[in-house]
Amino acid sequence: MDLDTPVVKIPKIGPFYAKKLNKLKIDTLHDLIYHFPFRYGNLGQSKKINQLGPGDFASIKGSVWQIRNIRTRFGKNLTLATVNDGTSSIEVVWFNQPFLTSIIKQTQAIGISGKVSLFANKLTFVSPEYELLRKPAEKGTHTQGFVSVYPETAGVSSKWLRTRIKEVLPTASGEIEEFLPPDSLVRNKLISRQKAIWQIHFPKTQEQIEQARKRLAFDELLLTQLNALGRKKFWAKNQQGVKLDIFQEKILSALSNLPFELTTSQKKVLKEIFSDMTSGRPMNRLLQGDVGSGKTVVAALAAYNVFLNGYQTALMAPTEILAHQHYTTLKTILAPLKVKIVLRTSQIKKSEPHDILIGTHALLTKSVDFDSLALVIIDEQHRFGVKQRGLLRQKGKTPHVLTMTATPIPRSLALTLYGDLDLSTISEMPKGRKKVKTYVVPPSKRAGAYQFIRDNAASGNQTFILCPLIEPSETLNTVKAATQEYLNLNQEIFPDLKLGLLHGKLKYKEKERVVERFRARELQVLVSTPVVEVGIDIPDAVIMMIEAAERFGLASLHQLRGRVGRSQKQSFCLLFTESNTPAVSRRLKAMEKYHLGSDLAEIDLKTRGPGEIYGTVQSGLPNFRVASLSDLVLIKLAKEEAKILFGKSKISQSRTFKAEMQKLGLVPPD
Ligand code: ADP
Ligand code: MG
Repeated sequence: MDLDTPVVKIPKIGPFYAKKLNKLKIDTLHDLIYHFPFRYGNLGQSKKINQLGPGDFASIKGSVWQIRNIRTRFGKNLTLATVNDGTSSIEVVWFNQPFLTSIIKQTQAIGISGKVSLFANKLTFVSPEYELLRKPAEKGTHTQGFVSVYPETAGVSSKWLRTRIKEVLPTASGEIEEFLPPDSLVRNKLISRQKAIWQIHFPKTQEQIEQARKRLAFDELLLTQLNALGRKKFWAKNQQGVKLDIFQEKILSALSNLPFELTTSQKKVLKEIFSDMTSGRPMNRLLQGDVGSGKTVVAALAAYNVFLNGYQTALMAPTEILAHQHYTTLKTILAPLKVKIVLRTSQIKKSEPHDILIGTHALLTKSVDFDSLALVIIDEQHRFGVKQRGLLRQKGKTPHVLTMTATPIPRSLALTLYGDLDLSTISEMPKGRKKVKTYVVPPSKRAGAYQFIRDNAASGNQTFILCPLIEPSETLNTVKAATQEYLNLNQEIFPDLKLGLLHGKLKYKEKERVVERFRARELQVLVSTPVVEVGIDIPDAVIMMIEAAERFGLASLHQLRGRVGRSQKQSFCLLFTESNTPAVSRRLKAMEKYHLGSDLAEIDLKTRGPGEIYGTVQSGLPNFRVASLSDLVLIKLAKEEAKILFGKSKISQSRTFKAEMQKLGLVPPD
């Protein structure tokens, strides 16, 4: 058995379980042993039976003195057992599992873990976890110490996974190569990779869990960093960029025609961009800025300077609506300055002469030509893959690339993850912006919220109503739910208002029309699915109401909230939830208190882990399973180590290294 062995060939798995495992993305032996627990069950202390008292949470080992099924007066099936460990006996009871008597026999050695209660006046384990042991002294897999809890799927429980992994690990772990040289291990106080895999599944102590996680997280960060260094080197080889001049006076006059003054941050970022443009090296810059911080105008001015140099710009947006919005914005700013701006989407195909071409991924098609492309701007970069970015870059010789994102990633981290990029950050909001007042609204106040929306409509303010996130990508189910909600709101709640409906399955023209009517204030309420249009800019929208808010990460909620509060008016975000668990309301309450994307991302990081915040597919972030984006100490260690190891080909030739690269979704430099 090597690591590529399909799980279907592993004893006790076979086609039946292989199919289920596929749902967990486990197809090979490698996938199986790299399916890590996300937490460890606390089974309570190991105790002797004579130490137990009511209310204890504990695990014991012993042998079964007797076991039988009985039927109560009320028709319930009970399985009763007595277990003795030499110090004393204890009763065990299970409900409605009469088959247990055919599994657990008298004299069987057994591990039991769970809560001790008084049952019929005797100390009893009620419905505990159990595990058959070969002898009472054997260490239990499921009922002793730390028990790993895995991502599960129907028919594949953590107990099942634990058992299979324990069976295959003795053989499989021999296949795990150590790709770090010994001095790296010493320098960073790391255990071997093999040991780490054992300990992550079957730790004996908290310390072992931590050692294992440290090693595995370190590897994830190290590989990411090595990859970034590779990209940077590749980038540096294509040194020739278009060297541009800065037309200072014309830029200043364009600035003075804006209806507002740039913030200090915007000015600083613009300077950084201009300095790249004059350097002769191709710019490769990531522009970060919270929602509403004003990234577009910065991009517009950069494009204007490119135009003044006689070159072209391509601006790529993630959706057609956003492309259209950028088109409108850039036209307002730049058309009076004689810049020819053309929108090109999958609907609008004709090529016209242009100075700035705006579009979606349609800009990547072969038929789009540029005579003199010098700047590529990519909005909301996380939606584009690395490959697509490369394609667009090839359209110019080596054009300058400016990528814009509102995804709040701490600076040190961004530098690690995108080691090939320079980073600019707009760190302040335009003056006069008010915080969006945010409330988690209890169900009893729903009617009041609707009235609030109605009152606002009367004074000319508009509202977004976000339907619940049903599935991560927009499906027919989502569309159906949104349509139903729209009909209900339109007929029952707001018969007196004009409502619009926006979802991803509308034709582009229909979407555009709805958005335009909303923008023109013909509609007072826009009912929308969550996946529609992250960056839409409607200054008169003042209320953002979000249904089933608990289904979103805080960073996503923040993005959605950023759709309002884009003018000087006081805006509101109303969060509804169907859940009443304290953890959920605590998490949502953070929205009331925090108003910076970076703060909220930090909270998300701590409570949910990076995958969930940034989304694994869309984020363009490596698919970390162990590493935490908030562990800045480890990030720093990994970064230092990467510098030492970079270029040592032996490392990257290890199979384990390659497989891990793939698991992380890292694309090596072209
Ligand atoms: P984002 O960074 O989310 O893409 P936008 O570029 O869409 O933000 O800008 C949000 C809104 O703020 C727009 O309506 C824009 O005109 C306005 N804006 C941008 N910069 C400033 C500024 N310095 N002062 C006032 N308003 C600004
Ligand atoms: Mg934007």
